[in-house]
Amino acid sequence: MAKRIATNVDRMLSDHIADQIRRSGPLSLARYIDLALGDAEHGYYQKQDPLGASGDFTTAPEISGLFGEMCGLYLAHMAGLASLDNPAILELGPGRGSLMADMRHAWAQIMPPLAAAPVHLLETSSALRKSQSDRLGDAELYWHMNLDELPKRPIFAIANEFFDALPIDQAIWRQSKTGKTGAWHHRLVGLLDDRLAFVDGPALSKAELDDWHLSLPKGVSPAAGSIFEYCAIADQYAGKLAHHIATYGGACLIVDYGRDGSSGDSLQAVVNHQPVDVFYQPGEADLSHWVDFRALRRAAIAAGARLVGPVTQGEFLRAIGIAHRAETVARLANAETRRSLLAAVDRLVSSHQMGSAFKVSLILPPGRGLPPGFAATGQTESAQ
Ligand code: SAH
Repeated sequence: MAKRIATNVDRMLSDHIADQIRRSGPLSLARYIDLALGDAEHGYYQKQDPLGASGDFTTAPEISGLFGEMCGLYLAHMAGLASLDNPAILELGPGRGSLMADMRHAWAQIMPPLAAAPVHLLETSSALRKSQSDRLGDAELYWHMNLDELPKRPIFAIANEFFDALPIDQAIWRQSKTGKTGAWHHRLVGLLDDRLAFVDGPALSKAELDDWHLSLPKGVSPAAGSIFEYCAIADQYAGKLAHHIATYGGACLIVDYGRDGSSGDSLQAVVNHQPVDVFYQPGEADLSHWVDFRALRRAAIAAGARLVGPVTQGEFLRAIGIAHRAETVARLANAETRRSLLAAVDRLVSSHQMGSAFKVSLILPPGRGLPPGFAATGQTESAQ
């Protein structure tokens, strides 16, 4: 099904953004993304369900229920190791609720305390909250707009393709006229010929360079035009989660495309599974970026917890036994179901599909020992 064409109502968001820029000057990139994705009336996630073949992108839980089942078994294992009373469940950015439904299905069979635990959902989209409510109707559900009011209990949490959807800022390296020195400048959203476009902003202050972890060793100078991304809200969410897990116990699986470090300019816009310009009809396109797992680790450690990984999604799912589980299920299925199941597993693990671009990491309370699934990090117990 082709996506609907923008209507007058949709065009209002770009007009509204352009008006704001005319009135008050260029916007930070994070503010632009925030409006394009989250504007209460016209934001991308507020208006529609973007997921699946008929939407703009497909996520692992929408490819196969095995993904949620494996993540559920994994968190059940971590909960079993921790043997804590009164756990709560949390999902950040639950989409259609498919991942949580598949995890709960696994828990109903092997871990009743998790199946009976209240489910907290961090979700700003009213359209998707409705899908989650329909899908998870049998659970005790609590929705949140932020992580400020989590219950004071151990939390077993998951975030799949959540951090990539958070607003980022960018800095661009500009050489001085002489070419001898340079500085990181904010990359802002302004108007060129009356159209939305990137414009240079002021140089980053010393405090900003520190916050962005962008201070350079003396004598080091990036190539002219280099771009660096910073996701302040990802640091905040990772820090809050980590603080909660360090205080009350629990674990949080984070799955997303990204790297263990910055990816330069990774901001991308997608409509109907096709890339488009990042200023194409704000509110109509999905905007996302590559997650910087090193920044998440730094935030987790600063909050008193630890972050294990990342390993690739392929390494993680293979290490926790997805192939074995798929074979067991396939044995009971007819030929056609078997073929589609094995094709789905291939899509999740093989490196030319989702297997290597997507990474998995885990926030845990401080301590030692490498949990299952993370041997490929090369991290040693003492490094934890
Ligand atoms: N985890 C799901 C959906 C991923 S899409 C899956 O794997 O299928 C991103 C999800 O994050 C959506 O549910 C979206 O509404 C939510 N989201 C995006 N930005 C958010 C924000 N700033 N705060 C809370 N939720 C957000």
